[in-house]
Amino acid sequence: MNLPHLSRASGAAARPPLRLTAPEQATLDALLRTGLGPLRCHAVDLRGTPDLVLDTHRVCMFVHGCFWHHHRGCQLARVPTTNRGYWEAKFRHNQARDATVLSVLQKHGWRTIVVRECATRRMQAARLGAELRRFVEGGAQHSEVTALPPPPAPSSPVPAGGIPGSRQP
Ligand SMILES: [Zn+2]
Repeated sequence: MNLPHLSRASGAAARPPLRLTAPEQATLDALLRTGLGPLRCHAVDLRGTPDLVLDTHRVCMFVHGCFWHHHRGCQLARVPTTNRGYWEAKFRHNQARDATVLSVLQKHGWRTIVVRECATRRMQAARLGAELRRFVEGGAQHSEVTALPPPPAPSSPVPAGGIPGSRQP
């Protein structure tokens, strides 16, 4: 695929060929459909090496594997049952590092969006592209694209006598 408007960070000639994971490739494909470019991949000049950057929109995108970034509540993010303590510590470390990266970028005027692996697997490219476009063209500081349903609103009304069939022991 010839993508003249797609480049790595400075010094591209000295770098190995661009290798994308499947979720990164799916996000890139969705983003290219939007025509929002120019964009670049794996921006090593920015904190955390954002996977996709739209400099003209001041947007950094991260594509997070659900396992390694421990996407809470996601089927792809089950903690292994052996060496559970090790994994929990590792996931805590990864999550703390992710949070630091986002806050440093935001302090430098970047807007940030995290695309979860599960979203790249379950969403059609057109829908994923629409979500990305909505964020880029909107004014939000941060967003996340996920295949998980949104958490229930805390103020949702509960019918008198509770929800049928949900009685707790
Ligand atoms: Zn997930």
